[in-house]
Amino acid sequence: MVIGVLGVQGAVREHQEMLHTLGVKTMIVKSAADLEGIDGLILPGGESTTIRRLIDRYGLLDVLRLQIDTLPMFGTCAGMILLASELSESPAHLRAIPMTVKRNAFGRQVDSFETSLIVEGVGQDIEAVFIRAPFVEQVGEGVRVLSTLGTAAVAVETDLHLACSFHPELTSDRRLHDYFIQKIRQRNAVSV
Ligand code: GLN
Repeated sequence: MVIGVLGVQGAVREHQEMLHTLGVKTMIVKSAADLEGIDGLILPGGESTTIRRLIDRYGLLDVLRLQIDTLPMFGTCAGMILLASELSESPAHLRAIPMTVKRNAFGRQVDSFETSLIVEGVGQDIEAVFIRAPFVEQVGEGVRVLSTLGTAAVAVETDLHLACSFHPELTSDRRLHDYFIQKIRQRNAVSV
């Protein structure tokens, strides 16, 4: 299995290292050709407007949009923003997951914080680092909420994709990455 990590900006190396410790090969994706032969794609945290600008500059927008019905994607923080079908305050990007996401949703007062979460199907006491994080305001058809913080949804999935508001790659907790890998394995097993 090879998992691509969108490598234009943000916490790219941290995702890569986590996947390596889980025994998965990685491919840094910076061009359309890099998408060939990958089984899944991680969209890292960073700054979604910057990532979007670079996606456009590298000519990746259309090729990524073409993959949203077939390539499993896992978005963390800014990656979640990139996957949303709607953003509450600005135009959406890849529109892979039917949901409305609010950027910087926890407000400036609580810019960044760490907590532990229950994530359905993944586990309890999941270490979660939130940095100017978004949350999911509303989900559409086929989207399951896996974790909430207060009233905010902070982890969701569809049959194909996974997204969380926080940064599992900045902790030593590998369970969300492992969950994404299992999701891809199950899918590959079905389609073989
Ligand atoms: N606030 C950032 C954005 O809007 C996301 C922050 C992050 O990825 N840590 O893109």
